[in-house]
Amino acid sequence: MGARTGKEYLEGLRAQQREVWLAGERVKDVTRHPGLARGARAVAHLYDMQHDPKLREEMTYRSPSSGERVGLSFIIPKTREELERRRVMMLHWARTSCGMMGRSPDFMNVNYAAWAGAAEYFARGRPEFAKNIVRYYEYLREGDVTLTHALINLQRSRDASGLFNLEQGTALEVVRETDAGIIVKGARILATLGPLADEIAVYSPRLGRHAEAHCPFAMSFAIPCGTPGLKFLCRDSFDLGRSHFDQPLSSRFEEMDSIVFFDNVLIPWERVFLLGDVDLLNGMAQGTHYSAHSAHQGAAKNLAKCEFVLGVALLMTETLGNAHLPHTEERIGELMLYAELTRGAMRAAEADGKLDEWGVFCPDPVLIESTRNLFMTAYPRMIEILQLLGSSSFLLTPSEADFKSPLAADIEHYLATANSPARERVRLFRLAWDLAGSAFGSRQVLYERFFASDPLTRARVLAAIYPKAELKERVLQLLERED
Ligand SMILES: Cc1cc2nc3c(=O)[nH]c(=O)nc-3n(C[C@H](O)[C@H](O)[C@H](O)COP(=O)(O)OP(=O)(O)OC[C@H]3O[C@@H](n4cnc5c(N)ncnc54)[C@H](O)[C@@H]3O)c2cc1C
Repeated sequence: MGARTGKEYLEGLRAQQREVWLAGERVKDVTRHPGLARGARAVAHLYDMQHDPKLREEMTYRSPSSGERVGLSFIIPKTREELERRRVMMLHWARTSCGMMGRSPDFMNVNYAAWAGAAEYFARGRPEFAKNIVRYYEYLREGDVTLTHALINLQRSRDASGLFNLEQGTALEVVRETDAGIIVKGARILATLGPLADEIAVYSPRLGRHAEAHCPFAMSFAIPCGTPGLKFLCRDSFDLGRSHFDQPLSSRFEEMDSIVFFDNVLIPWERVFLLGDVDLLNGMAQGTHYSAHSAHQGAAKNLAKCEFVLGVALLMTETLGNAHLPHTEERIGELMLYAELTRGAMRAAEADGKLDEWGVFCPDPVLIESTRNLFMTAYPRMIEILQLLGSSSFLLTPSEADFKSPLAADIEHYLATANSPARERVRLFRLAWDLAGSAFGSRQVLYERFFASDPLTRARVLAAIYPKAELKERVLQLLERED
């Protein structure tokens, strides 16, 4: 099939019956449900870009097996140029959603490309797992399959050891093995894009956070979202059916998060990539370098988000006429810094990238993982800056309907600024509110704080790969110097 169109993606969602629950009701068709449909259309639009004659070359490449044009985020990069090409593609998608769809399909595509490149890592579990991962990657690439993922087990209690407190009956576990596959039962969070994906991937990202006793919980697999026994429970939708004027982001980019219940779900053997091996699970990020590739996708998204927030801030301050004030300049300067640090670290990670032991060209892990850690605190700060710049203007935001009401003349008169007619000011600040104040905007902040793990795990990830020896050595050399 090769790179899909948006229409093909939406037809794929309709063709697969799945159990999705939202606000107490089972959703019949996710592509038509008012809380999900426009998010699905946003993903469809991304797929359509692959067929835009002006973008096609930058969005796709020739499949090494079928010769069809397939999405570039599936490429297993062998050179720096291929890595850079992939980033250009990912930036096109990220800028299209203003960085608001963290789970655009490239997020998972780069992971499976990395795993297929490092397939022998999985053979350490069982030889057939290497074949499984390669076959599955090729299936994803050739069918342009959309994936969600759910990595986190629900914990009933937490302690300071940093290890997961996994309990039987809550965490997803293997309950038995059969000739056909493994049977799993339990719950996982938080499948963003869950209702809008074709398939769901399950693995665990946690560096050393699984203990030996966790072997029934150690697994990696992927199955269709319509697999019997699989249930997706959505949070409230932030798409309230309002116009693009009223809610410019919520009305477009609702990617939805969901809890996933696995009720004795059969995972066929050919879809199992890791089973019962805690060490292999704990070592997956460093052993396959997939985390660096997924951080590369994240960096492109972060850059698009920095650019978008900065663009909004520039327009806000122009509109309010406070762009020239010193403290505004200081805050805008801070936003510029985040954008350029992100761009710089991403480009440096590509420039300092290397062929890894699997022959895959990998971005420099320290530089690229740093973009993730930075964003966990930078994004909330960026949103705080928007709030400081905008103040009450965020709430001087009558709706589109108000502009047609008897108060329209008052609104037009009083809400105009020296630089902007009222309608343009309100339109801009409704966008700013959707970014910095609405439920949609607050969820974006939460997303950036946590989507790539909790702060403790992120700090440990960076500390584990940071080259420390030379730094210590230099200090010791000074201490021993006699001159
Ligand atoms: C908007 C959003 C979208 C997401 N999308 C996805 C997705 O698509 N797929 C997916 O798999 N996951 C997703 N996640 C889940 C994300 O990976 C987790 O939220 C994250 O790993 C933190 O886990 P938790 O939520 O269970 O937090 P908790 O473990 O409940 O942590 C809560 C707080 O307690 C602290 N804490 C917890 N345990 C300890 C401990 N032992 N020692 C010290 N401090 C501790 C944490 O640092 C944190 O500050 C998403 C999360 C969000 C918010």
